[in-house]
Amino acid sequence: MNRRQFLQTSTATLMATAVQGFPLLGWQGQLVTSFEDLRRGVGIFNGQGGTIGWLVNDDGILVIDSQNAAAAQACVDGIGESTHMIDVLLNTHHHGDHTGGNQIFRPVAATIVAHENSARWQRQSAPDQGEEAYPDTTFADEWRTMMGDETVVARYHGAGHTSGDVVVTFEQANVVHMGDLIFNRLHPFVDRPSGARISSWIETLERVPGEHEADALYIFGHGSPTASVTGDRSELVHLRDYFSAALELTRREMQAGRSRDEIMGAESLAGFEDHVSPFPLLSLSGVLGVAYDELSKE
Ligand SMILES: [Zn+2]
Repeated sequence: MNRRQFLQTSTATLMATAVQGFPLLGWQGQLVTSFEDLRRGVGIFNGQGGTIGWLVNDDGILVIDSQNAAAAQACVDGIGESTHMIDVLLNTHHHGDHTGGNQIFRPVAATIVAHENSARWQRQSAPDQGEEAYPDTTFADEWRTMMGDETVVARYHGAGHTSGDVVVTFEQANVVHMGDLIFNRLHPFVDRPSGARISSWIETLERVPGEHEADALYIFGHGSPTASVTGDRSELVHLRDYFSAALELTRREMQAGRSRDEIMGAESLAGFEDHVSPFPLLSLSGVLGVAYDELSKE
């Protein structure tokens, strides 16, 4: 059985998960996993944590993000063959729900790649993980590889959800993994202590659609229970507009003399009531607090 047949068997025998990449940071609850084919050997794996992307073709295997240890093991079991290494594990950023399974991948992955800031944050935020969990290949602006007839490019666009997020493009498949630069219909987590910046996140969401075909398929780090973890460029525009509205609301309230706490108490963001808050880490008040801090520094 070759890799592709193995994957198709796995896909057919695993039930689709009802929740999209939940829980965000926790490992609790029953592990339900699924593989889903997208285009041209590129697909996603849903388990516990940020959506895993993968490329499997006759020349190699590349995996994007590693969720937590249990989910990573299910992914490795489903995607790998004992006689073949996984050529590359790529981390979109350092958060534990994207790198918590790195140690599981390490023995079967030839290299772990991440942006240099992501590697630095991972060492700082998870100092006990052990050397094997950290990326051994880092880059500042762009990293690319050819795998068979597929070109994979990871690009850094500046601070966004952290200061180490990359966007990964499968050029021939026309698929783009956004990592946590997209929380689909969730209030996004803006990790300011890890260098996040809303204003520059907006610029990235404006730039990325223009760098890809109009019919590119995007993979998202997380989606609400009723939203997909894949979609088209309109979802990038939607989140860009969400952030613009959040900055605008905050600027208006600051000009009216409102305090940070008062501004963070806003119950909704007009036009974006479809964004949900499944737990406190993902909340409108969190976004508005960061917006306040950013605008205060201008
Ligand atoms: Zn994250």
